[in-house]
Formats: sequence, structure tokens, C-alpha cells
Amino acid sequence: MAHALVTGANRGLGFETAKELASRGWDVVVAGRDAEAARKAAESIGARARSVRLDVADPDAPAAALAELADVPAFDALVNNAGVSLDGFDADVAARTIDTNFRGAVRVTEAFRPRLSPRANVVMVSSGMGELRKVSPALRKRLLEPLLTFEMLDELVEEFVARVRADDDLGGFPRNAYSVSKVALNAYTRLLAPDLPSGQRVNAVCPGWVRTRMGGSAASRTVEKGASGIVWAATLDEGGPNGGFFRDSKPIEW
Ligand code: NAP
Repeated sequence: MAHALVTGANRGLGFETAKELASRGWDVVVAGRDAEAARKAAESIGARARSVRLDVADPDAPAAALAELADVPAFDALVNNAGVSLDGFDADVAARTIDTNFRGAVRVTEAFRPRLSPRANVVMVSSGMGELRKVSPALRKRLLEPLLTFEMLDELVEEFVARVRADDDLGGFPRNAYSVSKVALNAYTRLLAPDLPSGQRVNAVCPGWVRTRMGGSAASRTVEKGASGIVWAATLDEGGPNGGFFRDSKPIEW
């Protein structure tokens, strides 16, 4: 029996991903920051779904969720889908966006790593807004530096928030916290890939512009179409790619 956990799965792309995995016979954990919303979402998916409270912005939440899920032998897929796109651009927006979209995925992944199955897929739900061309050439170079470490990436992101707080020159970062959070998430994907035991994979996926609360009603894609690439990455077999960035199951430029 395959097990998956999807963050931010009470609605939108996360919910659709959880629903699709359950329809394929997976046991899915619908993780949400609002326990009641997650419970209702899992109930609507059916017997293959259960829920857990997991606010990815809360540093203690992943360990608490793991303790609650002690009976799950191992996770075959971890889908880091939870994300926000906040209005405006100031230090508070920058800090909250980074903390949810980038650090949230990092803290959930780090907490769940010991509970991943030997052939698990980790999926980072990213965005075309995270493409490297959104940052200056100098910053791009720093992000692609072969000697980049997790600590250096964390410092880079911290530097962005500090520059916004100081109302300073942004040092090559765009005036868009969402974009920076996804650039950082992609960099984390590249760092994590070679660090995983052989057999496990991590890939970043752009779902395209999707009609969810975040994407809005004018978006070009249905939630089913958007989720299909996420489900693909969550269900790759051992021969599948590791450390890539995909849209519609096809590689795209970092
Ligand atoms: P959505 O409908 O707004 O759903 C976002 C989900 O994330 C909700 O379940 C929300 O929970 C959850 N969330 C937010 N902050 C959280 C936190 N701190 N802890 C746990 N869950 C949290 O948006 P969506 O379009 O489905 O977005 C899903 C992912 O796709 C995001 O990572 C987004 O960046 C990415 N994406 C979307 C599009 C698009 O066009 N829609 C394009 C590219 C990438 P609540 O219900 O509690 O708020």
C-alpha cells in the first residue's frame, strides 16, 4: 500500500492531487493548517484519505504531525504544495511568504526525510515565477554555484528579507516575494537531489496558471490539468528523474 502526504491539501491543487492519488489506490494524508478544513476535505475524498493539522509556517508542526501519523509505515510521496501569494510588497509580506513557500517546504521535508520509503518521491510545487531569469545574472550565478550549501541558500533568502526590511537596494532580487520564494524552493530542490539516498527523488513542478483561489478565475488551466503534473512527479518509479523542474511532465529551464 502506497502512502502520500500532501500539504495545503484542503483545497486547490493540493486537494486535487490528494483526490487523484486516492483514486489510484494510494492512502493519502490531507495536511492543512486548519484541522477542520483538512478533516472535511479528507472526508470528501473518501476512505483512502485521512487528515492531519500541519501549518507549514509553524516550526513545531511537522514533528507533531509525524507523531500523529506514527502508524503510517513510510511515505512513498511527500508533496510540498502549501503556498501563499500575498498582496503588497513589504518586509512582513517578504518574511511571511518566504517562511511559508520556502522554509515551510524545507522544514516539512527535513522532518519527514527519516520517514520516507526507500523509493519515495518528494515534490516541490513551484512556479514559473521561480525561474532564474527573475533574478539578476550575479545572483543567478550565486544560486547555481556548485558549492552552494543549504546554509548559504538560507543566508541568501535572509539577505532578501533584510534588504526589503531596510528598504534597501534589492541586490538583484525582484520586487516580488512570491517569485523569490519559488526561486529559493527550486534551489533547495537542486541541493536536495544529490543528498537523497539513491532510490529517492525530488523534483520541482510548475502546475501552470490554474483556476484556484490563488490563480483566480481568469487562469487558463483547470485544477485537474494543473494537478496532473504534480501527480506524475509524486508517482515516478525508480528510473524517474531526480533534481529536475517540470511542467506537464516535461523538463523546463531553471
Ligand atoms: P490555493 O487554492 O490558494 O491553495 C493554497 C493552499 O495552501 C491552501 O490549502 C492553503 O490553506 C495552504 N496554505 C497556505 N499557507 C499554509 C500554511 N502556512 N500551512 C499549511 N497550508 C497552507 O492555491 P493553489 O493554486 O492550489 O496553490 C497550490 C500551490 O501551487 C502553491 O504552492 C502555489 O504557489 C502553486 N502554484 C499555483 C499556481 C496557480 O496558478 N494556481 C501557479 C503556480 C504555482 P488555507 O485554506 O488554510 O489557506
